[in-house]
Amino acid sequence: MPRPSPRRRLARRALAVLAATAAPLGAQTPAPAPAAVPAGPAALSAHQRLAREIYRELVEINTADSVGSVTRAAEAMAARFRAAGFPAADVRVLVPPAHPTKGNLVVRYRGRGGASAPKPILLLAHLDVVAANRSDWPRDPFVLHEENGYFLGRGVADDKAMAAMFVANLLRYRREGFVPDRDLILALTADEEGGNANGVEWLIANHRQLIDAAYTVNEGGGGTLDGNKPVFHSIQAAEKVPVNFTLTATNPGGHSSVPRPDNAIYALASALAKLAAHRFPVALNEVTRPFFTQTARVEPRAEMAAAMRAVVANPGDTAAVAALSQDPRYAAMLRTTCVATRLAGGHAYNALPQTATANVNCRVVPTSTAEEVVAALHRVIGDSGIRITPTIPTDNERFGAAPSPVEPELLAATTALTRRMWGDIPVIPTMSTGATDGRFLRAAGIPTYGVSGIFSTPGETNAHGRDEKLRVKSFYDGLEFLDQLVRQLARGPRT
Ligand SMILES: [Zn+2]
Repeated sequence: MPRPSPRRRLARRALAVLAATAAPLGAQTPAPAPAAVPAGPAALSAHQRLAREIYRELVEINTADSVGSVTRAAEAMAARFRAAGFPAADVRVLVPPAHPTKGNLVVRYRGRGGASAPKPILLLAHLDVVAANRSDWPRDPFVLHEENGYFLGRGVADDKAMAAMFVANLLRYRREGFVPDRDLILALTADEEGGNANGVEWLIANHRQLIDAAYTVNEGGGGTLDGNKPVFHSIQAAEKVPVNFTLTATNPGGHSSVPRPDNAIYALASALAKLAAHRFPVALNEVTRPFFTQTARVEPRAEMAAAMRAVVANPGDTAAVAALSQDPRYAAMLRTTCVATRLAGGHAYNALPQTATANVNCRVVPTSTAEEVVAALHRVIGDSGIRITPTIPTDNERFGAAPSPVEPELLAATTALTRRMWGDIPVIPTMSTGATDGRFLRAAGIPTYGVSGIFSTPGETNAHGRDEKLRVKSFYDGLEFLDQLVRQLARGPRT
């Protein structure tokens, strides 16, 4: 491959950097060497050693849906809180009766109390992980490895780092006798990856009073590095809602030597061609508007930056929308998308097809609904012979929760801490095109923000993949950031 021009290199680097905001767990790019790190556990502070030990314990308990137990991990963390003197009534392992391996831990750290105390803050991380096979990994995925400046193991990034940080920090607050103005609630949940509704959805339905909060600090945000250089810090404040539809064309069929004028495969193909050409309306919200405004300031491709500003000023500016949509990540943040992901049809080489089906995966902007998407699909396809049915019942999902702007106290505290720890880089609110536990909390009326202080290059962590990793330095920086952030938020809003 020819060496790209400096301008192309810059544009490419910008693309890689910005990928993190639109798809934090998405595309993979090769990882550059991480920054210098403390020289092994001996150089660590007592607090860092405690956090590392909790992290190790969590990673080494297999919490994958298939063979693992989240309850074991929840119990192990509960034991630490009880040993530190937390009252037993404030340390609850809550297990859905039908799913004994899917326990959730809820811990309450009591504040000053009293009628004027602000509502609690919820600190949320999920304990379950995606399965990892020993035979697929060069090292045991359920052992915490530290090599060349990285922690490696299943869950080191998604999401056991944040879980370990929250646990270590609450234990430290207690040891120091820190009394917040408001209660802090820690929820370590099951089933975020499995989606079988025994985690945060189950807590909301069955133990709402235990987790009710002014807002939640969750995964989904974090900092973006270019090599070792911090570029910006994201607060995830909204996410799209995933939903799948099956398109089905049917036909009486017959002998393929005598084709009929109508054909199930042609009918489905024609429907998919119309879908491929369709663009849902641009739907900016309270999060994506400031995202584009602020990203325009760090976007080095001048024409992209101009398109961002133009689209925010006028979402009907079709030329600007087209320019911005050339980057698939930005395109996905502008509007609902529906894309064909699976295809099947026919039953024999010499028979006319009686059935043809396609799965269409839609990522719905949070202000829209499944009904609106179905209506749009019918309108676009315009063929009453094509059946459109939810592949998975749509009531498993939460639609129509309009995103709110980032809580001012959270934005102010994150901005000040970011400046102190990483210099003058912007803090940018973002909407994930993927999904986390946050959409259930938001739909239940608890605003939720992904903010972690954990920095990585785009795709570096390879979450859900082989050799999941996190920079050692990023782990200890995140620990410090969340410690300070939660202390500040614990004071409640200042008037
Ligand atoms: Zn996660």
